[in-house]
Amino acid sequence: MAACFYKSTRSNDLTITSSEAIVKGLAHDGGLYVPIEFPVVEKSFEELMDMNYRELAFYIMKKYFTDFDDKELLECVNKAYDGKFEAEDIAPLVERKGVYFLELFHGPTLAFKDMALSILSHLLKTASKKLNITREIVILTATSGDTGKAALEGFADVDGIKIIVFFPEDGVSDIQKRQMITQKGKNTFVVGIEGNFDDAQRGVKEVFADKEFNEELDKKGYMFSSANSINIGRLIPQIVYYFSAYLNMLKEEKITKNERINIVVPTGNFGNILAAYYGKKMGLPVNKLICASNENNVLYDFINTGVYDIGREFKKTISPSMDILISSNLERLIYDLSGNDNDLVSDLMAKLKESGVYVISDEMKKGLKDFYGGYIDDDETCDTIKEVYEDSNYVIDTHTAVAYAVYKKYKKDTGDETKTIIASTASPFKFTRSVMKAIDANVEGYDDFKLIKEMSNITDMNIPKGIKDLEKREILHNRQCKNDEIKKVITDILK
Ligand SMILES: *Cc1c(COP(=O)(O)O)cnc(C)c1O
Repeated sequence: MAACFYKSTRSNDLTITSSEAIVKGLAHDGGLYVPIEFPVVEKSFEELMDMNYRELAFYIMKKYFTDFDDKELLECVNKAYDGKFEAEDIAPLVERKGVYFLELFHGPTLAFKDMALSILSHLLKTASKKLNITREIVILTATSGDTGKAALEGFADVDGIKIIVFFPEDGVSDIQKRQMITQKGKNTFVVGIEGNFDDAQRGVKEVFADKEFNEELDKKGYMFSSANSINIGRLIPQIVYYFSAYLNMLKEEKITKNERINIVVPTGNFGNILAAYYGKKMGLPVNKLICASNENNVLYDFINTGVYDIGREFKKTISPSMDILISSNLERLIYDLSGNDNDLVSDLMAKLKESGVYVISDEMKKGLKDFYGGYIDDDETCDTIKEVYEDSNYVIDTHTAVAYAVYKKYKKDTGDETKTIIASTASPFKFTRSVMKAIDANVEGYDDFKLIKEMSNITDMNIPKGIKDLEKREILHNRQCKNDEIKKVITDILK
């Protein structure tokens, strides 16, 4: 098998291995690591059909992480996709209303981030061992809710690594906060920060950029790293479930060999949909990639006009994990569309930083024909949840509802009858209040914990393990700090 090497989207000078890319996360020039050449799937779909999720994960990831030996990678895969997922087949496909919902939320924190974060910790640990890094890795993360908990679960009790999560005291839901402060694992640390998410994010970024502080910690035997979604170790594992979904459709004879499918993804940082695009480059038969946005519709405009413009108001919506103006992973698509032109990518990213806008050429725009962009507002999101529930007794969360509603628009626009997968990115139990409001207006005055029970009662769904008895779990973290005390807290923790 050909070795897969990586380089930055912004320069040509350095070629590195997958281990190095995973440990570094972000390139020194601010670019993102991309594979120099895309591996292809050379086994037939008949052969792949017999594999279970873990076997398929190993097969796909081995093509990218070529400097891991079989034993190392197998161990990572087996540790990641085990009993902590409540679904036997990890990512089940559910047919409703003529489409296929790919349920990616059966991991410990009820959102699709578990699919990647449950393996990133093991990849990182293995990579640092391979590179003979003797310092202990300290993962620093600022979170607006979902990523923090998924990272804590992924890294809990992985030795040689500590994880410190900062969350804004004013910026997360009761459930999200409780999920984090009850986190087990002796290497996990959770700190509430005074202020909102931007304050927490800024504070943590300053720590990463503080040379003196990093040198001080280096002397004590520590190095910082991040579990951010730009790490190639988070992106590659996401390709697996698109193949798995396709193979499930083949197995159940919903499609014939090599029949093309559409994939709809509710999009924020452009990671999940980029994984589907990478899948297509590897040989997955994809017709359209449908990029669904909420009212933060920067990507919708970009796909339709070729202009990326963040000069607009940031909107808080009921699909908060998609409330984002700068979709970092789009840089990897731009790189691909430009024919791997790192100078051009550097130039566009500099423009984005300086003026908040960039425009791609007509030639590059042609590459966007694989994509369709759509967006919907909060009212339509609620209506969609209600409609799907009433028509088919299936409860979807707010993010998945955005995807399904955009798909309906697409179908009306184009008349395309291609079989379609909807990436279902969160359990409805994770966004209980909005979902319950949509399907049953009678919930005023209920607290979040009571709402969970009520949702289980009226929909006849079991409460997922990850939040069951959350109210009764022991609170294990009570650290709090002000924004300017972050370094002090880190020093305290690492003493
Ligand atoms: C993170 C997240 C998204 C957005 O995924 P990206 O890879 O950032 O595009 C969508 N839905 C949910 C529930 C999420 O947690």
